[in-house]
Order: sequence, then C-alpha cells, then structure tokens
Amino acid sequence: MSIKEMHAAVREFCAKRGWDEYHAPKELAIGMTNESSELLQEFRFKDRDEQQELLADPEAREDIEDELADVLFFVLRFADMYDVELDDALASKLEKNRARFPANEYQEPSENQDK
Ligand SMILES: [Mg+2]
Repeated sequence: MSIKEMHAAVREFCAKRGWDEYHAPKELAIGMTNESSELLQEFRFKDRDEQQELLADPEAREDIEDELADVLFFVLRFADMYDVELDDALASKLEKNRARFPANEYQEPSENQDK
C-alpha cells in the first residue's frame, strides 16, 4: 500500500465505526504513545541477542508487527485528520536532523554496538 492508500484504509476503517469524535489530537497522540509502549513491552528485559531471536520467531514477530502497525495507524490517522503531509514533514525533519547531526561527525556503528 502507498501512503495515500494507507490513509484511505484507516479513514474508511474509522468512518465505518464513527470514531471521528474520539480522535482529537491529544487522544491520537495518547494512542501513539500507548501503542509504542506495547511495542517496547515486546522487548523488555531482553538483551540484543534475545531481541534478534524474537524478530526471527514467526509468532513473536507477528506480535511485534502488530504493535508497529498500531503505531502507524495512529500516525496516519493524526496526519489525515489534521492535514499533515507526512512525506513533507519527514523531509523537513530529516533536513533539520542533517544539520543537527552532521554525518561527518559520526562513525559507522560497529557490529557489537547496541542500538
Ligand atoms: Mg497494540
């Protein structure tokens, strides 16, 4: 799905359930945070190797992908309801971050470095 198609799918899903009234900006931001926490919970107390094992396990990976999709749902919903062009917002933010974190000041991460 393209971003446009994802927006349409989320919009249709919510419209069929009458959820517009519940999707004030604050509620959508809370939704993003809650779903991000659920994603984090999947990795809690796991070292890096265990995290990789989770991603390699089909059942655990599906749970992780579900949580990631939940986060995306709220991001898409927020942008759609409040007229945020996500591609423009991302391009703008990446430009700011290029200035904030000049690439020549950072080294390639080593294989053993934790993310
Ligand atoms: Mg969830």
